[in-house]
Amino acid sequence: MTPLDSSELQLQIHHRLIEELAASEKRYRELVEHLREVIFECDGTGSLIFLNQAWAEILGHPVSESLGHSIAEFLCEEDQETGVALITGQRRKVSGQEQKELRFRHRNREVVWLELSVRSVDDGRMVGSLYNIDERKRAREELQKAYDQLEVRVQERTTALRETNQHLQHEIAEREQVEVALLQAKEAAEAATRTKSEFLAKMSHELRTPMNAIIGFTRLIMRRCKEILPSKQYDNLEKILISAERLLALINDILDLSKVEAGRIEIHPVNFPLEPLIDTCLHTVEPTVKGEKLQLLKEVDTDLPSLTTDKDRLHQIVINLLSNAVKFTENGAVTISAKRHGEEIMIAVADTGIGIPAPALERIFEEFHQVDGGTTRQYGGTGLGLSISRHFARLLGGVITVQSTPGVGSTFTLTVPISYRIGPPATQDIHLSSEDNVATETAADQKVVLVIDDDPNVIYLLRENLAEAGYRVIGAASAEEGRQKVREFGPFAITLDILMPQQDGWQMLHELKTEVTTRDIPIIVLSVVDNKELAYRLGAFDCLLKPVDRDLMLATLSRITRTSASRTAGALQ
Ligand code: ADP
Repeated sequence: MTPLDSSELQLQIHHRLIEELAASEKRYRELVEHLREVIFECDGTGSLIFLNQAWAEILGHPVSESLGHSIAEFLCEEDQETGVALITGQRRKVSGQEQKELRFRHRNREVVWLELSVRSVDDGRMVGSLYNIDERKRAREELQKAYDQLEVRVQERTTALRETNQHLQHEIAEREQVEVALLQAKEAAEAATRTKSEFLAKMSHELRTPMNAIIGFTRLIMRRCKEILPSKQYDNLEKILISAERLLALINDILDLSKVEAGRIEIHPVNFPLEPLIDTCLHTVEPTVKGEKLQLLKEVDTDLPSLTTDKDRLHQIVINLLSNAVKFTENGAVTISAKRHGEEIMIAVADTGIGIPAPALERIFEEFHQVDGGTTRQYGGTGLGLSISRHFARLLGGVITVQSTPGVGSTFTLTVPISYRIGPPATQDIHLSSEDNVATETAADQKVVLVIDDDPNVIYLLRENLAEAGYRVIGAASAEEGRQKVREFGPFAITLDILMPQQDGWQMLHELKTEVTTRDIPIIVLSVVDNKELAYRLGAFDCLLKPVDRDLMLATLSRITRTSASRTAGALQ
């Protein structure tokens, strides 16, 4: 091999370098052309002097048409200023690179987000890249939009909630106002009931006093003048008596009702056998049975236990049921039955009368309700009896039920506990047994009975009624006069009224029972006020209701005689 001369060697090296350079440039160009980002180059004036293919792919502008134009021309208007500032600012810098997210305009006029990175190179040229962030940017915008929507929705919800809250507060306030109004109405109603009850109690007293006098005087005349009065006049007196008694019963009903409404009914349980009470009730309604076509029957189980309940209230209920049965029955029978049912007693009053239509069954227990005008006109009555009876039955812890078939008859059943459960324990039987009712006193010689009552009619009637039985009645029109006459006469017994103008009868009773010289004198409270418990607590011998029942008063006086006789006998032994 001949050695190469130096020029040939140089030429070879030169060629070799050129080839290597061309290969390297090709490699770089391929590399640049295949990149997904835009690579660009600008001259010192900012005109594009190089762009790779990604430019056309991303922005749709052919590379050949874009070269020679400023990059700012491809920016959206809103970002042109920022883009230009970035490029010129960068141009002044020696080194370093700056980035910005900018909006470019695609050839089809759509906006494309690109991240521009640019840096200056030595001879005033600028090189940079544009990275497609459109998708990321749009996703972020979508996210922002969703977030904004969410915000709006949250805002809407909050507003709706606030409105609901305000609405609720408004409703609560309204409800509170209604409650206050209701409370005021309730208080007003209670006050009205109280006033009504007080008024009724007062009126009842005012009405009862003359009624008692009418009844008492009529009875007296009827008894004394039976032989001398023409029978027509005697019948007329009987009619006066019946009307007066009916009126008195009505007044008593109204008073009972007002007491029930005011919650002032007290229960005084006592122990007593049921059958005598039923007999007394039958005895009471017997005179109202019209003609012989109606029978009064009794079916009482023989092994009934004695009851511990309020005897007077029970008596009132039974009387009401019996008198209704008699009132609404022309033919057949009214049967009262009593039997034990567990710890309760069932007293049923069955009749074969007109019956009650089904729709009226519920309502007959309402105040003043009567089946119809026709019934009322034909049979009379106030429509209060059943209402009061039902209240009483409930107070005794029981119920009244009814079964009825129009034209066939009705059965009213009262069920009460054998032993009244709530309330004070049973006290001794405070009532007369049935044989006491017929007891008379004729042998007592001038026993003094002091009658303390502001109503002269009461004194007069007692005097007339008791004188026949050998008692001497002394009257006192006030507590003061009463005190004086007690000292003066040392009476065998005292009858004491409760409602007196100057001094209350209760106070007087207390006084007489605590004073050594008077405490042994038996006192019979005789009033329209029915408060046996208080009377007994204060030491009364008995408590009788006006109008004065002659037989009852005589029986009570007789009992006083027996009690003091046995006490004396006990003391002597
Ligand atoms: P009164 O009998 O004074 O009208 P009540 O409250 O005792 O009042 O009775 C209400 C109504 O129930 C009576 O008016 C009557 O229409 C009806 N009633 C009550 N008991 C009977 C009965 N045994 N038979 C038919 N109807 C009755």
